[in-house]
Amino acid sequence: MALPTKATHQQTRVHNERLVVRTVYDLGPISRADVARQTGLTRTTVSDVVGGLIDEGVVREIGRGPSSGGKAPILLEVDQESRLVVGLDLGEEHFAGSVVNLRGELRRTVELPVAGRDGDDAVALVFDLLDRLLAGTSAPLLGIGIGTPGLVDTRSGTIRRAVNLDWRDLPLGAIVADRYGVPVNVANDSQAAALAEYTYAGEGRVPNLIAIRVGRGVGAGLILRGALFQGDGSGAGEIGHTVVDDDGLLCRCGRIGCLETVAGGRGIEERAAAATGRPTDLEAIRAAAGAGEAWATAIVDGAGAALGRAIAALIGALDVQRIVLIGPVTDLGDRWLAAVRREARDRALAPLADDVEISIGRPTTNVVVRGASALLVARELGLSLAR
Ligand SMILES: [Zn+2]
Repeated sequence: MALPTKATHQQTRVHNERLVVRTVYDLGPISRADVARQTGLTRTTVSDVVGGLIDEGVVREIGRGPSSGGKAPILLEVDQESRLVVGLDLGEEHFAGSVVNLRGELRRTVELPVAGRDGDDAVALVFDLLDRLLAGTSAPLLGIGIGTPGLVDTRSGTIRRAVNLDWRDLPLGAIVADRYGVPVNVANDSQAAALAEYTYAGEGRVPNLIAIRVGRGVGAGLILRGALFQGDGSGAGEIGHTVVDDDGLLCRCGRIGCLETVAGGRGIEERAAAATGRPTDLEAIRAAAGAGEAWATAIVDGAGAALGRAIAALIGALDVQRIVLIGPVTDLGDRWLAAVRREARDRALAPLADDVEISIGRPTTNVVVRGASALLVARELGLSLAR
């Protein structure tokens, strides 16, 4: 059955437009002729598409480049301020959000305390945050990206389960899209972090990457072949509630000895409090481990090793070489990182483990916000971003 001609033309136009935007975004400043060479489109098509993009303000001319004999070509670049994206991080204690440009640079940030709100009250707080962020923005809004704790179906924008916020099967994406009239993407915080590491990596971008967020909980975001991998039940990367210690601590999910009770921030602090007899935060644990206090080195080494074992399993299953660790627990520093690396290397198949690079990601502030916006930028501009 043939598609209606009109729809086909429309689809071709959208496809070409995205191809050109992506090329100018990744390779600009770039001439029209080089865009044609890179994309395989004709020069006429490129000129038409670029004309439209210049009218819309997404692409601009920035003068002439070096000549290769003839007349020097006019260079194009994406105007990174031409569209804005809002990224939200619905954290456990604060809902934070930022207005972000097309390169993921924060332009304006608002943070509101959650103060125990959940259910509909927490949804109202999301609206309040968005209203404050959008007041006074000048450029058109490309969309809203939301990073949230819990189990999220990014395809439908539904939060299947977020324990602390008492959200279950909440179609947050649809609710927000309805109210603000723009596309909305929802991902969990680990997935958002993976997207931030991937999308804004620039020259260092690789097609496969695992970002592991180690905060109170532990979760992995998987980027495979340049796309977020969700799994069959949108739970891919939910490594935090795999039982690793049968005689361990009670987990908030109700079971005993989940990975997050050993490797997560809350579990680490509980162990430290038990050892010292007083509340002890990550900073104090790091300092005590640095001073060689046995209780602290044992906790730091144990937490790192537990995470390393989980990473070894991921390496065996996926053979991904770039693993980035983010979140508050990374503040435990070099000793912790060394334990993670040692255990991952010792427990994964040697030829696979040899090529793995485990590192601590860029500063975690706003990584979820940037990741939530990255998903939007990638989707709306048609950036496959694969290299
Ligand atoms: Zn658990």
